[in-house]
Amino acid sequence: MEQLIELLRGGLPAEAVITDPDVTAGYAHDMASFCEAGTPAVVVLPRTVEQVQHVMRTATELRVPVVPQGARSGLSGAANASDGCIVLSLVKMDAILEINPVDRIAVVEPGVVNAVLSRAVAEHGLYYPPDPSSWEQCTIGGNIGTASGGLCCVKYGVTAEYVLGLDVVLADGRLLSTGRSTAKGVAGYDLTRLFVGAEGSLGIVVRAVLALKPQPPQQLALAAEFPSVASAGTAVKEIMAGGHVPSLLELMDRTTLRAVNEMAQMGLPESTEALLLAAFDTPDPAADLAAVGELCKAAGATEVVPAEDFAESELLLQARRLALPALEVLKSATMIDDVCVPRSQLAALLEGTAAIAEKHDLTIGVCAHAGDGNTHPVVCFDPGDQDEAARARASFDEIMALGLELGGTITGEHGVGLLKKEWLARELGPVSLELQRGIKRTFDPLGLLNPGKLF
Ligand SMILES: Cc1cc2nc3c(=O)[nH]c(=O)nc-3n(C[C@H](O)[C@H](O)[C@H](O)COP(=O)(O)OP(=O)(O)OC[C@H]3O[C@@H](n4cnc5c(N)ncnc54)[C@H](O)[C@@H]3O)c2cc1C
Repeated sequence: MEQLIELLRGGLPAEAVITDPDVTAGYAHDMASFCEAGTPAVVVLPRTVEQVQHVMRTATELRVPVVPQGARSGLSGAANASDGCIVLSLVKMDAILEINPVDRIAVVEPGVVNAVLSRAVAEHGLYYPPDPSSWEQCTIGGNIGTASGGLCCVKYGVTAEYVLGLDVVLADGRLLSTGRSTAKGVAGYDLTRLFVGAEGSLGIVVRAVLALKPQPPQQLALAAEFPSVASAGTAVKEIMAGGHVPSLLELMDRTTLRAVNEMAQMGLPESTEALLLAAFDTPDPAADLAAVGELCKAAGATEVVPAEDFAESELLLQARRLALPALEVLKSATMIDDVCVPRSQLAALLEGTAAIAEKHDLTIGVCAHAGDGNTHPVVCFDPGDQDEAARARASFDEIMALGLELGGTITGEHGVGLLKKEWLARELGPVSLELQRGIKRTFDPLGLLNPGKLF
């Protein structure tokens, strides 16, 4: 331990090496419930690429595990410390190095907060689409680590589609550059994509080249009330089959609506079983909303209420962004699923989730990036009640099993981390698992990078 700290201090400023256990304990875990977290030996907060390289060289020399962290807003335990590890927090590397309107790229350090980047590029008439609900908090490094999605992904896609190139410090301290700054490029294997969603298990992202789009027009939204979550799921199917391209298509069930109202007094309708939010940023959003409103009615919507203006549309979005934190305070504990199915199977997944909640006599609030088929059933329970906690775990697992049965995935955007480790093998199968473990060994032969996560 003493040798570790001494060596780290040799290449880092004094304030960048934290050993006070009261402070380091604060870096032990992300926002996922029920994932074990160890006690870090030290937390380091480098400001330069060279400092990150120094940390990794030291870790390799002394064989100390390293857990990279962004804002620790992750929901799978992927940023949780392991015992005796170096927590490598990238939050101080938060410079936007370049915004280039001609090449339509931004070059950033990993600690840049998602919303800060979004606002900065907007000043140039540009748009960085991936927008997790946690965007005011989460970092680009974390977004790359978990391959984040968000609200506007139904039209604009997820983080993976916007990462063009990376600088990555490898386990032994070497600096790897992947990808490109060009609009096209097919030289060699796509190592950039390999790092997106790797959960810090292959290397430390220290710089990213991100693709930007021209700023679209402001979006206008509507809210449609449904008598069941499944009928809202059917509306989603019809909207997508009808060739519509909403910039947002989100769902909140009754439990979620109540929770959001309780947290923020938003005045959302609580008597409805499901609220579908649709938005368009097209040249004539009102016409698009009218067409989608008709499809909602045909699928059983009892009320379709278009927002009066852009400000009201933004309020609806804010309500949706509050869904997860609001559900988390409903009961003393929650487990958040992240199952994503083909859109055509959304209604079946929602119906099945409701049946699982009933079978286990549990409250499971559902919010969803419905247009992506990506649902977040939030299992609420009291951990002090052993029977209820066991039923919660069982229902959490049954929802993932249902997702796989329906041709989906156990995680659309939150990642595997510790929470869904057992399920990864089931989804990948033995051949893929063996190859993936081989990739891990190639990049990290000593197994020092974020050990115990994913596999
Ligand atoms: C209220 C709330 C709402 C959310 N909504 C969404 C949503 O809509 N969509 C969504 O996708 N997620 C959502 N999330 C989950 C979370 O915000 C995302 O996973 C986010 O991308 C994590 O970013 P972070 O900076 O907090 O990373 P962390 O949680 O600190 O880390 C995440 C992973 O990335 C790795 N990592 C971090 N930085 C680096 C780096 N520089 N190099 C290599 N690896 C690194 C970590 O080791 C870890 O494996 C939400 C979370 C909360 C709390």
